[in-house]
Amino acid sequence: MKNILKDFFGFDEFRPLQEEVITSVLKGNDSFVLMPTGGGKSLCYQIPALMFSGITLVVSPLIALMKDQVDALKTNGIKAEFLNSSLSSSKASEVYRRLLDGDVKILYVAPERLGIDSFRDFLMKLDISLVAIDEAHCISAWGHDFRPEYRNLKDLKKMFNVPFIALTATATKRVIDDVCEQLNLDNPKKFISSFDRPNLNIQVVPKKGYFSQLLRLLRKYKDKASIVYCFSRKDTEKIVDKLKDNGIKAVCYHAGLSNEVRKRNQELFVKDKVNVIVATIAFGMGIDKPDVRLVVHTSFPKSIEGYYQEIGRAGRDGLPSECVLFYSYGDKRKHQFFIDMIEDAEEKKRAEDNLNEVIRYCDLLSCRRRFLLNYFDDNYSKDFCGNCDRCNSVEDKFDASLVAKKILSAVIRLGNKFGKSYVVDVLKGSTSKKVLNFGHNRLSVYGIVDDFSRDELLQIVDSLIALGFLYRGEGRFPVVSVTKKGIEFLKSDEPLMLNFVKNRFEKNKFIDVKKQKSDFSGYDVEVFEKLRVLRRRLADERNVPPFMIFGDVSLKDMAKNLPSNEDEFLAIHGVGNAKLEQFGKMFLDVINEN
Ligand code: ADP
Ligand code: MG
Ligand code: ZN
Repeated sequence: MKNILKDFFGFDEFRPLQEEVITSVLKGNDSFVLMPTGGGKSLCYQIPALMFSGITLVVSPLIALMKDQVDALKTNGIKAEFLNSSLSSSKASEVYRRLLDGDVKILYVAPERLGIDSFRDFLMKLDISLVAIDEAHCISAWGHDFRPEYRNLKDLKKMFNVPFIALTATATKRVIDDVCEQLNLDNPKKFISSFDRPNLNIQVVPKKGYFSQLLRLLRKYKDKASIVYCFSRKDTEKIVDKLKDNGIKAVCYHAGLSNEVRKRNQELFVKDKVNVIVATIAFGMGIDKPDVRLVVHTSFPKSIEGYYQEIGRAGRDGLPSECVLFYSYGDKRKHQFFIDMIEDAEEKKRAEDNLNEVIRYCDLLSCRRRFLLNYFDDNYSKDFCGNCDRCNSVEDKFDASLVAKKILSAVIRLGNKFGKSYVVDVLKGSTSKKVLNFGHNRLSVYGIVDDFSRDELLQIVDSLIALGFLYRGEGRFPVVSVTKKGIEFLKSDEPLMLNFVKNRFEKNKFIDVKKQKSDFSGYDVEVFEKLRVLRRRLADERNVPPFMIFGDVSLKDMAKNLPSNEDEFLAIHGVGNAKLEQFGKMFLDVINEN
């Protein structure tokens, strides 16, 4: 396994869980893999594919991406092909022939094709060793990206008596179970990796005067790839125009553009011809660009799940990257307007809940990462991640121990039976009918908070929920209750530091990311730039994205270690035998001419 990892892919170490998954697949188990975007799911089936005697069938919904994936495998010296509607019939028959000849190791197909009987008959003639279902959440109606074509996969397990592996970056517990059931996986081993993406710096900032901040950000990442997500198609076009006026070249991407234009713009972006793509959420799924350094949301995302996917497109190569969300309550009305038009009551409720979660996230006073990971049930236990705006603005923290204890006590006095806004009413000494009727004005906690406004208190309550001190129930009028963790906190002397609440909307705070640690601090910038030029030339000649030649991590490794011969070059991250052979001499020449 390790030899294949180095010889074909040029990597020295497995990422977390990869080795375990591969071992399980090689043993013949069915497997379910949940890893964040960029976690390295592909290797989980590509390495077994190279070890099994027959063909590995990979189902992927992303036709636009298949060619890139197959090209990338080919540059690594792996016999891969794809079959989808974009192939000419002569090219397709060539692939069919080579498959029958056993001259293909990995075959990518679109799910649509598996609904065609003649294609299924053809597959039955092949020696299939492994079936991989990528983006497996698409089979579940519970997921956020259900695709009817995926229903064609339901009886696949019965057709092939071989191990199956289902992979996704997005699934709640319910979706995981549903995926395994729909695919008829046989007692699958589940591999669920941490969702944390520590290299992403996460910020949420008020939207005041945001365009100049956006310019500043994009200029900071000049020459680097950035994605700007917008609320509407119109917004994307407006922003592209405004960016142009300010000397920043950008292309837009949304579902209203013709296929041709979309494809062209995406390609300009992926091939580093244009650094900024301004897009609706139509853009992204299946963008396999590892070196996106900045993802901006110019408005609330629709859900936390979508948001995490979208920011997940930054920094897939593991290098430091930045994610900035601009928010304003004005935008909430825009979202609400569209939600109001939804007719299906259940769907409407879901959309509303999702938006409320997002707002809760924006208002959060504690670590953003912790909130996000708790949302996905990840067992993230640190209070501070050190790489989000809440954690980085240390100077703004205040001691919230006392007010937090007042809140928790009030919740307990109210029998864990009321909503958060009522709890706040009681703490603020409201004289509303409801409070008086219940006699809650006689509680010891009535009116005991005067140093925080109602809104501030609500924000602190949200933070306590995010921290797991309070639990917020389900339903239209969710009730808050104190958790075990909250009780422990009540009894302890541990201080609780939260970010400053007061006047936060007036301040236009924007934290510059402190330089993040990376292993490449000492690389030779001049050599790196020269290597980039060479990489671009080679990519242009081959009409592939530059990262397919070598990623930034590889170039930085070269510029740091300055290999002088083939052996040393082989030790570079991402250099396997095939790449050494194709590109080694050219890169060594550039490095050695210094
Ligand atoms: P996913 O499908 O989970 O989003 P990919 O399989 O596309 O992720 O991998 C993301 C990136 O990580 C790719 O550029 C890939 O080459 C790289 N990668 C995967 N595994 C390793 C590893 N063991 N060491 C170094 N880089 C890796
Ligand atoms: Mg993938
Ligand atoms: Zn944090």
